[in-house]
Amino acid sequence: MNILVINSGSSSLKFQIIETDQTLIDSSTDKIKLKGLIDRIGTQALAKISVPNGIEIKESVAIRDHSAALDYIFKKITSGTLNLDGIFSLSDIHAIGHRVVHGGEKFSKSVLVDKTVLKSIEDCIDLAPLHNPANLKGIQATLALFGEKVPHAVVFDTAFHSTIPEVNYLYALPYQYYRRYRIRKYGFHGLSHRYVSYHYRKKVGIERDKVNIITVHLGNGCSICSIKEGKSFNTSMGFTPLAGLIMGTRAGDIDASIPEYLAHKEGITLSDIDILLNKASGLLGISGLTNDMRELLDEEREHHDRRATLAIDMFTMRIKHYLGAYLAEMGGADAIIFTGGIGENSSEVRRRICEGLQFLGIELNEQANKEKCLGVEGDISTPNSKVKAWVIPTNEELMIARDTFRCVNGLPAF
Ligand code: AMP
Repeated sequence: MNILVINSGSSSLKFQIIETDQTLIDSSTDKIKLKGLIDRIGTQALAKISVPNGIEIKESVAIRDHSAALDYIFKKITSGTLNLDGIFSLSDIHAIGHRVVHGGEKFSKSVLVDKTVLKSIEDCIDLAPLHNPANLKGIQATLALFGEKVPHAVVFDTAFHSTIPEVNYLYALPYQYYRRYRIRKYGFHGLSHRYVSYHYRKKVGIERDKVNIITVHLGNGCSICSIKEGKSFNTSMGFTPLAGLIMGTRAGDIDASIPEYLAHKEGITLSDIDILLNKASGLLGISGLTNDMRELLDEEREHHDRRATLAIDMFTMRIKHYLGAYLAEMGGADAIIFTGGIGENSSEVRRRICEGLQFLGIELNEQANKEKCLGVEGDISTPNSKVKAWVIPTNEELMIARDTFRCVNGLPAF
């Protein structure tokens, strides 16, 4: 089945076409047929499309909205210049899977799109004012192009965390605010944590309810998730993706009184502070240089920049803090798993996180740690390590494609 996977942002459209048949467990049967990104929709957009046969398109083109972006993509596909394997027209797309950031408390799994589902996603706009409207734009655009005869599924970033128990998802605010406004921890990056957890259990050959691990997603956004008996038990992002770990430009956890104090001192509004906490903080804010971990590591190595080192040290210390907390909460774990751009590629960051954690049973194998980069997966711990450490490259698009296949064929979630 050829599945068009759509990840729609407010001015961007990321897409892949993946052939998947998830009744076969072996993921080597999943084939990426095309990948692309259209950025800066609404102005002179930048379009990139690449195909495994080596053909690449990069061009600057005027694209007014998400529907026009889809028209552009399908003109390219049907023109034949991409030489795609088995895709010649719209009818060769058998289903469409959309990433939706926030499913609130309504969605604990992926579902097929219908009017009620669309209304429920709209109802969650309040909780994700930046993301859900953008996701809806993508859904409306594919519905307009393909019609309702082609099944559409929605896959939520929050759904995996719907198993987090009340004791972990409630904030210690007056309870009526949970009842009235559903203020609670929702958690995000669910597709990544779920994919990595699934991949780990397939690798080590255990049943889902035997999986007791901590997954550490470190990219531009970062979150950590404890998975107990195969289910999300706690995660570091909260009501919004601002909470928890230090990220590229997001502060992660801070004392809740700081915004009011800062507003008063700087004479700025709460919404200015929201922007400051989301866009100007984290690695960028501390280093004053960049939100990019690779550049910070270069600065540290080449120029011994004190604040680059400080940013990396704070980043890794916060992760240690959560590892300790989650190991205590869940009563130990069998493995911790690194993923995301930093987690998959930086052996140095992984080394600094695991340094000094031998007392918790985590012992890195230095050589294996150095070798597991650039898409290489595997165990990076010593044979004696009581808690194993692994690197598993994430694949959120594949997760969306497989869930879409399952929704369309009425198969249970995995
Ligand atoms: P993502 O959001 O998952 O694409 O991850 C982006 C982050 O991964 C950026 O901070 C990159 O600098 C970081 N990253 C990618 N490759 C490396 C690398 N080889 N070493 C360190 N950080 C990396």
